[in-house]
Amino acid sequence: MLKLMNYEIRCTSCHKASVSILDFRCPSCGEPLDLGLDFNFEPGLVQMKNYSAWRYSRFYPYVDAKDTVTLGEGWTPLVKFSNNLHFKLDSLNPTGSFKDRGSTTLISAIHRLVKKQRGSIAEDSSGNAGASIAAYSARAQLKAQIYVPESVSGPKFNQIKSYGMPVVKVAGSRSEVAERAQKAEKGKLYVGHIFHPFFRDGIRTLAYEIAEQFNWKTPERVYLPVSAGTLLLGVISGFRHLVDSGTISDLPKIIACQTRQVSPLYHRIRKLEYKAPKKVTSIADALVSTNPPLLDLMVKELQETDGDAEMVDEGEIMNAFTELAHKGFFVEPSSAVAYAAHQKQLRNKEVSKAEKTVIVLTGHGLKTTLQPAS
Ligand SMILES: [Zn+2]
Repeated sequence: MLKLMNYEIRCTSCHKASVSILDFRCPSCGEPLDLGLDFNFEPGLVQMKNYSAWRYSRFYPYVDAKDTVTLGEGWTPLVKFSNNLHFKLDSLNPTGSFKDRGSTTLISAIHRLVKKQRGSIAEDSSGNAGASIAAYSARAQLKAQIYVPESVSGPKFNQIKSYGMPVVKVAGSRSEVAERAQKAEKGKLYVGHIFHPFFRDGIRTLAYEIAEQFNWKTPERVYLPVSAGTLLLGVISGFRHLVDSGTISDLPKIIACQTRQVSPLYHRIRKLEYKAPKKVTSIADALVSTNPPLLDLMVKELQETDGDAEMVDEGEIMNAFTELAHKGFFVEPSSAVAYAAHQKQLRNKEVSKAEKTVIVLTGHGLKTTLQPAS
């Protein structure tokens, strides 16, 4: 298909353009890369008969239709929970988490070149992105070596192995897992999902879908669980693109939701000092980035778009997890963090029930080994 649009990949710090699609960080200064979109979103170009994230393929100029690696991700249900509160069920993606939106764009964009050059990739993850990259690599017939923290949940570990990909458990913090993966063995190419701009860029479709499912009207608030920041940055990028293109008139207020243990963004936004625990023991095991490499970028984007951050403790997460499940929504505790944050803000009267709100439920409950409250 003819792609009409253009894009560029630039460093977020020195603004140098990147020349290889395999670069995961700036080749000059090492800072994260960002993808600039030099085209407008147009609702008329949405492929209405494609019921996946690829209904927006016209806005992904770096993926050729013949190279698309898909498992049917995206176009997940937006369900009304109560009057003005809606859940976006991204836990229903093919591998059970929103990460599939990023994996489909990243693997689609690079799989031919990877095969030509080396044939295998390396990735690090707390579990969900690893499972997702493993699945899309399997679909593309690539080999992917996945590095995970020792604390990875059993179901996530088994899921990655089931896709036929080798998994390495690494002792230490989330940053140490990333370091280990970046020192990938000879012949493997590191495509860390946190860094690679094509992964983050795939998350744009989540914002497009929320807007389209509301008939191109913006909800007033969107609550997201935030750890490494790919979900937050991708969703902001999507909504900004819609506003810049004139498709919607206002940005929603984005609330980045964190656990008390892992809340570097919350603390930075509130100008408080954050001290990471020696070991993260939260039941929200997908939210483990105590020192996220994209923190500066997250702060900048959240402030520029008038967003906010919220923090919840373990008891609030457990209550939210239980309450959601008792109403039929079985999600992993990390997803319940966003619902817990919304409930907290309702209690504190920082948000009203009259505000049209979306909570993104990011990961499936079958990924957890958490015992239900009796
Ligand atoms: Zn740079």
